[in-house]
Order: sequence, then structure tokens, then C-alpha cells
Amino acid sequence: MSTNPSRKPTGSEESAVPVLEVTNLEVHYGLRRRRRRALRGVSLSVAPGETVGIIGETGSGKSTLARAALGLVRASAGSLVIDGVEVGAYGHRQWRDLRRRGVVQYVFQDPLRSLDPDLTIEASLTEPLLIQGVPRQEAASRTRAFLSRVRLSADLLDRLPGELSGGQRQRMAVARALVTEPRLVILDEPVSALDSANRVQILQILKELRADGVALVFISHDLGSVAGVADRIAVLYQGELVEVGTAGDVINQPQHAYTRLLVRSAPTLHSAAADRAEREALRALLHA
Ligand code: ADP
Ligand code: MG
Repeated sequence: MSTNPSRKPTGSEESAVPVLEVTNLEVHYGLRRRRRRALRGVSLSVAPGETVGIIGETGSGKSTLARAALGLVRASAGSLVIDGVEVGAYGHRQWRDLRRRGVVQYVFQDPLRSLDPDLTIEASLTEPLLIQGVPRQEAASRTRAFLSRVRLSADLLDRLPGELSGGQRQRMAVARALVTEPRLVILDEPVSALDSANRVQILQILKELRADGVALVFISHDLGSVAGVADRIAVLYQGELVEVGTAGDVINQPQHAYTRLLVRSAPTLHSAAADRAEREALRALLHA
């Protein structure tokens, strides 16, 4: 904090505070002889409005990192700061309050885990707004506006999540997470259970929603899904972050052997990179 009273914080200074800052995070599961370390020395900072992709194979600790950032598992070491506040020692009720206030939201692979099965689509979307004190009429109009942004028809408002298709349900989960305009949304494998048409649609919607200034942490085992959405990509390998860089750098100049393997084995990326190399070679030839 500045001690000079004439120097008031400006909007840009405020927004420079990371919305998520994880430092030397360590998470263990199990007790005594069954105790296993799932995350080790993980440090990552997410700026307001930034989209960070986290990739890694099954068991690398991606969901553990998501759970830690949502207060669903407790870190055994390290610090966790959300929107400038250290929350590592928060208890159950403080976490619930943080989620209720809509600071941090989540979307899971299985949308039925992010949605209350007994609430209609309308109730699921308006309830968090009402909790935030948004007047009922405004909550209803914001709900409708959001529904169209995730390409869902207003006809679905009185349905239950179980009455929607898998793709509709996941778009609904995205809408519920974003309708309160949170600072940060953690998405753990949001497209992994979807067919390719629904996957492309959700990725497109996420790209559009980024314009609202929300920070996204987008977790996937598939580099191809993350590549087109993320500003930066972090690579988790056996519980450690082995590489963090801009999406372009990680894909075009992977530094770690494991990242190189991921890039090589992502077929869609590989052909895009090959195409680019070919175009560049052609351009060099033409301008020679
Ligand atoms: P990912 O999401 O990348 O597949 P996870 O975070 O789910 O990885 O798992 C990381 C490691 O922690 C794995 O070895 C997994 O077996 C272990 N693990 C995850 N959840 C639990 C749990 N509830 N109890 C014990 N071990 C767990
Ligand atoms: Mg997982």
C-alpha cells in the first residue's frame, strides 16, 4: 500500500492484482502409510481477465489443483490467494461464502455435478443473482440474456437439468458459473465428455465470454482443446508444473520433454504447426 495520501489506487493498479495466486502449493491425499503427494511446489498466477490452460495426463494433479483453488481440498503447504485475499486457511463456511458471493465459480466435466438436479434452469440461474441482492426482475432479464449467449432457448427455463441433452446441460453449467459475473471460473475438463460438435460450441462460447473480463482456468488432458482458448498454458506432470508460457510459445517452442511429447501427440495441433511451417517456408521463398 502506498503511504502517500495523494496517490489513490487507479483502476489499472487494482486490476494488476492477480485474481488467483498459488505459491509453492502442496497437496497430499491419505494418511500415514497411504499418504501420497498429489501436488508439489506448484506456483501459478492468473491475471484478471486472463485465460490459463492447464494440461497434463490423467493423474498429473489437474483436478487436485482445481479442488484446492475451490477450497474442496486443503493444501498441506503453500499459499493460495484469491482476489488479493489469502484463503488457504479458510474453513468450510468461509469457502461457501466466497463461492456464494460469486467471486469464484466452477464448471466440472459432468454438468450434473455443477448443477442442482432439483432446480429448474431458471431457478439455477436466478438464485445466485438473488443471493447477491440483484432485484428479481433484473435477475430474470439477466438470466434470459445469458441463456441466449450460451445458445439455449428460453423454452428450456422450466426444465430440470436431467431433461436436457449433455451439450445443453454443459452450456447451462457454463451459464450458471458466469451469470453472476465472477472474477474467476475454474473449468475442470469442461469439454471432455462432449462430442466434437458440442465441444466446438462450448469452446466458442468460452472465447466470447472472455470479453467480459472474467479470468478462466481451463483444465484439460487435451492440448488441442486448450490451445485455441488459452492466453497462457501451464503443463502439469506428476504433480509439478514443468512449463508455463504463452500458448504460442508452449505449442511452437515447447521447452520440457513432456510438453514436446504432448505437442507431438496432439494431431490437430501438429497439422496446424506443420501448415504454418510450410506457409512460412513458402513466404520466405517468395520474398527471397
Ligand atoms: P488429474 O485430474 O490430472 O487426472 P487428480 O488430481 O485427479 O489428477 O489426481 C492426482 C493424483 O492424486 C493421482 O495419483 C490420484 O490417484 C490421486 N488422487 C486424486 N484424488 C484422490 C483422493 N480423493 N484420494 C486419494 N488419492 C487421490
Ligand atoms: Mg481430473
